[in-house]
Order: sequence, then structure tokens, then C-alpha cells
Amino acid sequence: MNPQQFKMEIPWQFYSDEEDKLFDHCQVCGKYLLDEGTDYVVEKAIRSYEGHDFYSTAYEYAICLDCHQDIQKGMSEESMNNLQKYYNEIMAKKEQPLAIDLHHFDLNEWLSKCFFTGKRVDEMKEYQLVAQFSGKQMMLNMPPLVIGETVIEEMAGLLSDKTIDEMNDFRDRFLGPSPDIEELVFGKRLILI
Ligand SMILES: [Zn+2]
Repeated sequence: MNPQQFKMEIPWQFYSDEEDKLFDHCQVCGKYLLDEGTDYVVEKAIRSYEGHDFYSTAYEYAICLDCHQDIQKGMSEESMNNLQKYYNEIMAKKEQPLAIDLHHFDLNEWLSKCFFTGKRVDEMKEYQLVAQFSGKQMMLNMPPLVIGETVIEEMAGLLSDKTIDEMNDFRDRFLGPSPDIEELVFGKRLILI
């Protein structure tokens, strides 16, 4: 398939819940994101309520690829190696292929369960959504990820103190105070993939 087709219109799941529209600026440097060819990442932490059909967003942001790489550089080598190893191990156990078959791709189904474990999000209290975008398109060559609560905790456990400090610093500077964020991040749970 033509690689240029590995993208789609940005689905509502990756809109800003706060503003009810597409994210249009990098949370860190303020760069405008919706011009063609501008690459960025959107990350959201979602709270769900067991047995109910609604959810709330604990935090959400868009960040341009340059800033994203800067933040990753702030992660210690130890943390990066640990996360890479964890990722490789979990991927080796997975049965479903990483690649998306666009002919049969059902985004709602894809986003209904943890990318790593297959556990359904409606059975979780919390999960994260991460995807890559370019202008007004969602890129599918790096598929959108649902990261379930178990995986979030396991990944957080692999981070060095130095990396956790960096993440807390990021939160203080760019996400602002919020009780939900306090809980998530001081619980060592903000993961930047
Ligand atoms: Zn930026």
C-alpha cells in the first residue's frame, strides 16, 4: 500500500476535550501545529468509571516533535534502556501484528483495548492515549496507542529517579497545577512515549 495512505482524519478521541476542537499549538513552545507537514504528538490520560459509559480527561496536551525529542533527551539512559527492554519483551509476546491493515481498520475497536495487553479500557480506571499527527492528519505508520493502567504502572516502575524528576519538572512548567495531575504524576505515572 502507498505509505501516503497511512494516515486518516483526526478522530474525535484526539480532539482537545477542554476546547472541543483540534489541538492547534505545542504546549511547550507554542508552535502552530495544523500546517501541513508539522509533526506532533497528542497524549491524554483518561479516567473511566467502572460500569458507566462516560469518562473524564485528567490531562491532555499536544507537543511538537522537536519538543518531544528534547524531553526524551531528558530521560536518563537507564530509563530509556529499561523502557526499550520492557517494550521489546511485551511486543515479543503479542499475537496481533503491529501493522494496521487499513482495509479492515476499525479505530473504535482499536482504541477500545490496551495496545500491549489487549485488556479492555472499559474494565480500567485509567488509561492513556498517545498518537502521532502531521498537520490535520493522524499518522498510522506509528499506530495510535492505548496504554492500559497495568502497563503504565509497570513502565513507571522502570524509570529512574532522575527521569521522574524531569517529568515532574515538565509538568510544573507546562501542564499547570491540577489535582488530577498531581495524583497521576506524583504517583509516578506520567509516561512520555
Ligand atoms: Zn514545541
